Amino acid sequence: MDMFDDFTKRAKEYLAGNNKNPVYPSQASIDALQQLNIPLQEESLQPEQVLAALDEIGSPATVRSSGGRYFGFVTGGSLPAALFAKLFATVWDQNSGLSVQSPAAVTLEDISAQWLLSILGLPESCGVGFVTGATMANFSALVSARHFILKNEGWDVEAKGLFHAPEITVITGDEVHVSLLKALNLAGLGRERIIRIPADDQGRMMIEKIPAIVGSAIICAQAGNVNTGAFDNIDRICDRFPDKNIWVHVDAAFGLWAAASPKLKHLVKGIEKADSWATDAHKWLNVPYDCGLVFVKNKDSLVKAMSASASYLPTTNMREPFQYAPEMSREARGVSVWAALKYLGRKGLAELIERNCFYARQFAYKLKEAGYSILNEVVLNQVLVSFGNADTTLKIIKAVQEDGTCWCGGTVWQGKTAMRISVSSWATSDEDVKSSIEAIILIAKKNIPG
Ligand SMILES: *Cc1c(COP(=O)(O)O)cnc(C)c1O
Repeated sequence: MDMFDDFTKRAKEYLAGNNKNPVYPSQASIDALQQLNIPLQEESLQPEQVLAALDEIGSPATVRSSGGRYFGFVTGGSLPAALFAKLFATVWDQNSGLSVQSPAAVTLEDISAQWLLSILGLPESCGVGFVTGATMANFSALVSARHFILKNEGWDVEAKGLFHAPEITVITGDEVHVSLLKALNLAGLGRERIIRIPADDQGRMMIEKIPAIVGSAIICAQAGNVNTGAFDNIDRICDRFPDKNIWVHVDAAFGLWAAASPKLKHLVKGIEKADSWATDAHKWLNVPYDCGLVFVKNKDSLVKAMSASASYLPTTNMREPFQYAPEMSREARGVSVWAALKYLGRKGLAELIERNCFYARQFAYKLKEAGYSILNEVVLNQVLVSFGNADTTLKIIKAVQEDGTCWCGGTVWQGKTAMRISVSSWATSDEDVKSSIEAIILIAKKNIPG
């Protein structure tokens, strides 16, 4: 069989299996992966044999996060338009670091960048980088902030590094995402020297507790807490700290997409006053992995932080993606972003975000009605459920995962063990939500004594 036909048949069967298989693979399927763990043979194979091995042994051991009943972490699915665009871009096999290597990929990235700024209500002046995920987007924003602040202090950090550089105060909320701490560490800003501001019961930074700042600082705010979905009041943070040398960065890995919805954009009021933003396209825009986005208002800071030059690198008037991201050679991320936006349109994107939030409210309403506690204000797509004490809740989470109708993770929210439901996929339907709620309630009833 033709390789394309073989691939199409297998891919179709796999996706059709999303509705027939447990969301999480069985232990037997996971164990069977060891069949691939053999010494590499001497001879070459046919490409079909390689694909067959992947599909026959790999596919059964995958988590069905491309389906509509995966509610773990914050994991979007892949819109068909974005999926096929990515596959097509892979057929093109373009190196998208330089415009001379791929005028097509770079133009699409440039168009996507402009569309994104408009949809998200961010300043047109922003530099936009396409990176692997929000962790690298946070990193890219932080090194831009580092550049800007230290340049104003007369220090060339790209040339001299951070040894002996003027100190920069770094402020985060107490419910900061772990990836932001990782990014601070990577950027040489240290994750332990930061000032952590207490958070309220929804995880929002208590702005009045931010101390007066002397000198330069980076304030890392958050739009969309990974547990509750809550938003820091970025409007107030920016108003309280208007100084030029206080850079406000927003980790908005999924929360930024609220800006695309007329009904939800009140949540991100004033967000455009910040200096930089990190988000994920592979979460709520529902493009395949890896795809994160960084936006930096002072474009020059991003470009200077990412600067590299060599005599063989051409200077052009086109966008040069490597100037906006840590990587040089890389895949054509702009193509899947372009395709998702082109497919959805403004209304379609707003509708996707609003529908997921509606489903989250439905989960909360039905589970509360059944007698369980919802630990957060469901302002977005995240729901935290407690079924009683920690042991009972953990037991129910495990049973839900084993049941396979849907998959939800666990968390500890401000000392309370909870099941976490995140609705982030285009693929989630009314029917998926209904059957998942029914399964969760049935399992909870079985596991609660009395
Ligand atoms: C997911 C997430 C991140 C990290 O994003 P990656 O794409 O995994 O790098 C950072 N911050 C928040 C709030 C997130 O939800």
